[in-house]
Amino acid sequence: MSDCIFCKIAAGEIPTDKLYEDDEIMAFWDLDPQAPKHFLVIPKSHLRDSSAVSKGDEALIGSIVRTGARLAKENGLDDYRFVVNNGASAGQTVFHFHLHVLGGRVMDWPPG
Ligand code: 5GP
Ligand code: ZN
Repeated sequence: MSDCIFCKIAAGEIPTDKLYEDDEIMAFWDLDPQAPKHFLVIPKSHLRDSSAVSKGDEALIGSIVRTGARLAKENGLDDYRFVVNNGASAGQTVFHFHLHVLGGRVMDWPPG
């Protein structure tokens, strides 16, 4: 999508602090971290949110989750939180599916 910031990051049009990239997904540090370690894992293809995930995307979503867990461990996180915000009132501001991986501090529950 031409006006989507994460599509632009995936296409290399906007520089980012990249952690990992393959043909289908990308991981990069969040610009405005909410924990000592906070990165995002995204599909390179545009997917609006969880409700847009189809059966054909199941391997892609599995790859995002596995990569988030692997990168968390590689970055010294034994305990971490995965977050996916879906819709504006749930906190979504970028409407391109992304998995937040946050760690390095104690997390409160329930989330705000
Ligand atoms: P959401 O609020 O949609 O769940 O999360 C969007 C996240 O993307 C936010 O944590 C925000 O800080 C991050 N973000 C927005 N624009 C950029 C950007 O251009 N580069 C990076 N690295 N992160 C961004
Ligand atoms: Zn996009």
